[in-house]
Order: sequence, then structure tokens, then C-alpha cells
Amino acid sequence: MSTIKRILVTGGAGFLGSHLCERMVEAGHDVICLDNFFTSQKSNVAHLLDKPNFELLRHDLTHPIFLEVDQIYNLACPASPGHYQYNPIKTMKTSVMGAINMLGLAKRCNARVLQASTSEVYGDPEVHPQTEDYRGSVNPIGPRACYDEGKRAAETLFMDYHRRNNVDIRIVRIFNTYGPRMHPYDGRVVSNFIRQAILGEDITIFGDGAQTRSFCYRDDLVEGIIRMMDGSEDCIGPINLGNPGEFTIRELADLVIEITGSKSKLVERPLPADDPTRRQPDITLAKKHLKWEPKVPLREGLAETIKWFHTIRLEDYRAPTP
Ligand code: NAD
Ligand code: UDP
Repeated sequence: MSTIKRILVTGGAGFLGSHLCERMVEAGHDVICLDNFFTSQKSNVAHLLDKPNFELLRHDLTHPIFLEVDQIYNLACPASPGHYQYNPIKTMKTSVMGAINMLGLAKRCNARVLQASTSEVYGDPEVHPQTEDYRGSVNPIGPRACYDEGKRAAETLFMDYHRRNNVDIRIVRIFNTYGPRMHPYDGRVVSNFIRQAILGEDITIFGDGAQTRSFCYRDDLVEGIIRMMDGSEDCIGPINLGNPGEFTIRELADLVIEITGSKSKLVERPLPADDPTRRQPDITLAKKHLKWEPKVPLREGLAETIKWFHTIRLEDYRAPTP
């Protein structure tokens, strides 16, 4: 039997999706990259367009689509607070209707479908580090809810399609991930700090900068996603994927300044509503079931990302449109 699979990657032109498409094309699979380019540009996958086993589809995931595939990586969704709050109703629709459409497709094709969920399902957590059995502390009516609750509802749909319809599912909860091809204007902390440092602008610390995040390099994360998709039925998730190395936002700023050699100054700005205070993944389950743990330390991953930022023209990147 052929090991070549027909693989659909929704959100495939995005930061993580484009890297995943690249890995799947290199492995010889037939890859369909589906995207509406809300937060991404074709340049992310331009180098794949002339490959015979790669196809690019402009489609909005809130509408059903009929394809024949063996695996579906469901990544379509704006991911940074600025992007997902731009049109919050659309964000919720993408998570919920996108999940329904992809689960329906998986059911019809007998395909395996993986949901890119998020550490945001834990909200502003009271449990630290976060384990998968922690049910989270999300404000359902706050400005982050369109993303957090959309992703939570998607997880519910995945589990119900699995229990009721026997759909072959996997769920990963991704923690903050960074690397080349992240959108330089997505408003996320890593892209903001690197861009500001390179341009010599003030580095904007929201709040006092004592809040923490755990940053995972893109290549590590994508490896974890693939292992989860190809892993056994004993582990359908949800499973945490992230780097347990925890840093304050101020520590991150200092590191970016050191690596870039920038003269930028740190300035404090108001902390956004519902901004989680601490975040760190417990990856015991991923280590056990996927034999996976991140390999790239923050300093090394940041150096790679900064190198990439020096190769792009910032004016080629546009703000998202509805
Ligand atoms: P990204 O914004 O670069 O990628 C998302 C892609 O989805 C973009 O190409 C966008 O155009 C596309 N998209 C959005 N709405 C769509 C729609 N309605 N129809 C079709 N395509 C649509 O973000 P990313 O960082 O690559 O994130 C990928 C996935 O991983 C997302 O689901 C995100 O929630 C999840 N995730 C990412 C992180 C992270 O730190 N990067 C953390 C947790 C979860
Ligand atoms: N943040 C910051 N300055 C910025 C952008 C973000 O201090 O220019 C902070 C933000 O308030 C949060 C952390 O960095 O505490 C991570 O923010 P990001 O948007 O990258 O991810 P998320 O909050 O979704 O984890």
C-alpha cells in the first residue's frame, strides 16, 4: 500500500501552515493548501507553487468544500490578538463553522483530522504549569473570547464527532510559537519586539512586563504536530505542544535587544484586558506519547527569526482586511 497521502492543510499559507506544507511536500505527499489569505500572503508558499505535488486553493473555511483527502490539518484561524479581534464574529465563525466543515469532510472521506487548538483554552490560568486536564479560566464575554471560546467550541465539536460518528481526530493545544514567516505586523510580542529593535523604535512592554510566556520555535512545534497526526489512536489529545522554558516579557525584550544590538529603549504601555499573567505548558503527555520535546533554545530561535526579518521588506506586508 502506498504511503503517499492526500493531505489538506487549512490555513496552509500562514506562518505555521506554510512550514507544514513544506514538510509534507518534501515528504512526497500530495498537498492541498487551503487559505483565504486573511492574515497571510502567497509569498509564504510561492516556492511550492511549481511542485507537482502542491496545490493552492483560495477558499474561506466558513463555507463547506468537497475534496478527497486522507488527512486534514485544520490550522485556519487568525492567531494573534490584533488579528483575531479585528473581526471577532468572523473569528468565531472560522473556528466553529470551520471545525464543522472539516469534521464533515473527514467523516465523508474517512480522513483523520487534526485541530490546531491553543493554550488560550486555559484563559488566565490558576494552575501552573498548565496540564491538559485543567479546564481553564476564560472570560466568555471579554475581547479575547472570540478566539478562546471559538477554539473551545471547536474542541467540543471534535470530541462529539469522535464519540458519535467515530471520526478519527487529533487535538493539539499550541503554546506561543515564533519563527521565520511570522507576520511582522501581527502585533504579537516576538514580531513587535524584533521589528521595533531593527527599526530602532521604542520597544513596547504592555503592563510591567512581569507576565510570562513560554516560546516554542516553529520547527519544533511543526514536528510535534506531525508526530501527533501520525501517532497512534491511544493518544487523540488534547495534548499540549510548547516549550516549557518560561520567560517574562521584559526578559524577552532584553534578549531581543542583546541579539540585535539595538539602541531601542523599553517603554511601558497599558496592559490589554484579560491578558494572561502566566503561561507554561506541562508537556509530560507529549514526551510520553509522541517522544517529543522542543530542541531549540529561545536565544537560538530568536537569532534565526531575526536573521529572517533582515531578509524581508516590511512594506510587502499588509494589515488584514475583513
Ligand atoms: P497565521 O495567521 O499565520 O495562519 C492562519 C492562516 O489561516 C492564515 O494563512 C489565514 O489567512 C488563514 N485563515 C484565517 N481565516 C480563514 C478562513 N476563514 N478561511 C481560510 N483561511 C483562513 O497563524 P499561525 O500562527 O500560523 O496559526 C496557525 C494555527 O495555529 C491557528 O489555528 C492558531 O490558532 C493556532 N495557534 C498558533 C499559535 C502560535 O503561537 N502561532 C498558538 C496557538 C495556536
Ligand atoms: N506584549 C507586549 N508588547 C507587545 C506585544 C505584546 O508586552 O508589543 C505582551 C502581551 O501583553 C502579552 C505577551 O506580550 O502579555 C504575549 O503577547 P502575544 O500577543 O504575543 O501573545 P498572547 O497574549 O496571545 O500569548
